[in-house]
Amino acid sequence: MSSERLFGVKMRASQEGRHVSGAERIVPASRVAQTLAALADRALRHSKGEPDFINLKADAVGEVVRIPSLPVSTVEVADAAEGWARAEEMLKAAGVARAREVCGLFRETYSMRGAMLLDADTLERLEPNPERGVRATNMDSAVSSPANVKNHFAEALVLASKVLSAPGIVGEVCMSDDPNYVTGYVATRRFGYCRITKLKEPGDEAGGRIFLYRGRREDVAATIDYLERRAVVVETPSPDANAAPRRFDSLERELSEIAAAGLRRETRMVSSRSGCHIAVGGRTLVSFASNDYLGYASDAEVAEAAADAVRRHGTGSGASRLVTGTLTPHVGLERQIAAFKGSADSIVYATGYMANLGTIAALVGRGDVVLSDALNHASIIDGCRLSGADVVVYPHLDMDALDGRLASCRAYRRRLAVSDGVFSMDGDMLDLPRFLEVCRRHDAFSMVDEAHALGVVGATGRGLSERFACGHPDLMMGTLSKALGAEGGYVAGNASVVEYLRQRARPFMFSTAPDIAAMAGAAAALARLDGDPSRVRRLQANVRTFVAALAENGIAAKTDSAIVPILIGDECEAMRVSGELEKRGFLIPAIRYPTVAHGAARLRAAVRYDHGEEDLTAAAAAVAAAVRQHDD
Ligand SMILES: *Cc1c(COP(=O)(O)O)cnc(C)c1O
Repeated sequence: MSSERLFGVKMRASQEGRHVSGAERIVPASRVAQTLAALADRALRHSKGEPDFINLKADAVGEVVRIPSLPVSTVEVADAAEGWARAEEMLKAAGVARAREVCGLFRETYSMRGAMLLDADTLERLEPNPERGVRATNMDSAVSSPANVKNHFAEALVLASKVLSAPGIVGEVCMSDDPNYVTGYVATRRFGYCRITKLKEPGDEAGGRIFLYRGRREDVAATIDYLERRAVVVETPSPDANAAPRRFDSLERELSEIAAAGLRRETRMVSSRSGCHIAVGGRTLVSFASNDYLGYASDAEVAEAAADAVRRHGTGSGASRLVTGTLTPHVGLERQIAAFKGSADSIVYATGYMANLGTIAALVGRGDVVLSDALNHASIIDGCRLSGADVVVYPHLDMDALDGRLASCRAYRRRLAVSDGVFSMDGDMLDLPRFLEVCRRHDAFSMVDEAHALGVVGATGRGLSERFACGHPDLMMGTLSKALGAEGGYVAGNASVVEYLRQRARPFMFSTAPDIAAMAGAAAALARLDGDPSRVRRLQANVRTFVAALAENGIAAKTDSAIVPILIGDECEAMRVSGELEKRGFLIPAIRYPTVAHGAARLRAAVRYDHGEEDLTAAAAAVAAAVRQHDD
């Protein structure tokens, strides 16, 4: 629009005092006349009936605010009941706790011309005149559309965008009073403008809108002033772009479902960490949430080794391992891991996740079978799926079941049994001697994931074989990202297994070789672990102290590792207890579906070697207090 004076041009039409239609535009002076004519034409031809009164006016408007339009999505629903259920979920996710009441109140807006303005928390009416309501007006779209044609969607989007840009407004719910127009919408800052395909049955004349306000009472007048008088032009997407966003609709719907079910996850920024203390959200907490069991992730000597390697070799490997990406730190670390684990050789991958994915998918395929513990880590599950082999899931830690299933798998070319060594959400441990005996008897490959066992289990942290003083599985998988404080994964085994993986594992072949700093950091940490097991002993003593302190506080917990699960059950309750602990200075995260089964939500405490005795006893007391707080 030019620097010409702008006018708000409005039309309202009625028949025997009953509202028939209304529309408005913001146009430069030179277009006022033609816009008035077009709006009059529209009033005269409205489907609701011939008006006997048409009010046309044009007011000069002051400074115009330009705002972007809300993002648009559509929720397809079968009927009005489902439509309202969705509306309620979205409002809840936007923080309106009494969403159901808001939706119920809706029926009372019947015959109001304006909108109800409600306090989002108390649901008190805030309009000075409840008969009239609040009228959002003085707005237009930056993209001009013919003034004589009604486009429900474009006009509603402009209105909702203005409403949500008003100070203090957190949401709007709208249902058209046009008996033939059943689509309504919920607008929130979080989800934007969400059309709901059915909020009423055809023929229903009810309709209206509700604005939800959160803020100080003394600021309500300014909000109403903005809604009613401030001239706003909304930059709506062009008509073509308007048609496109449908592909995002299903994503947005799913996101609102996740939030409504209490399962939305957020990343939190850790601004600093020092030993077992971390700073998040402006507070320092004692962390029970880190896998850096032995403190090597922030160890000065380890960091120096990593920095030194980067200075010598640069930041990236530049190619995959099979091309020119194999540098001395890769080879050195593979030898070191093999020596530490007592195997002939090892292969390193960029992450533990890749190690499981790549190894399982390389070793078995069509015509083969994998037997997998029901509680195995997601990376094992994904590897099984990717492999194309038949997958048989056996009950958690049930070696008789494994035995039985293997007995009926003789016809397969290859059989692979795979299990976590330490289970990452329960902290319990595989009976390795039994597992190996069963696998050998059925001539099946045995693979054990020691992500949470390396540096934790066994007198010197060598893992399950040391703990049980037994032989090795064929494939000993582990990660560099936990007790070694770096990043990367490995598989240790005999020469033919490791060589086979170098020929067949796709993440090894088709992804750039692992990060140099991670290799050197892991190597330095492993050398320290190998040379001095005192941190392992401290860690193991800390676990005993923590479990005993929990027991003294009436909380039953057991573990075979440094992971101490504290079962809660309900997802929301687990979140509450975790939040309460945070207030008390402890970060003990709640673990929810899909990481664990529905209804098996828990706190998951990971003990570190550098937790002090008082950290452990105070945390145990805080857990008990936080759990009990609810029982009162
Ligand atoms: C963490 C973990 C992995 C994945 O390791 P990353 O190095 O983090 O990718 C694999 N298996 C188990 C059991 C784990 O706990």
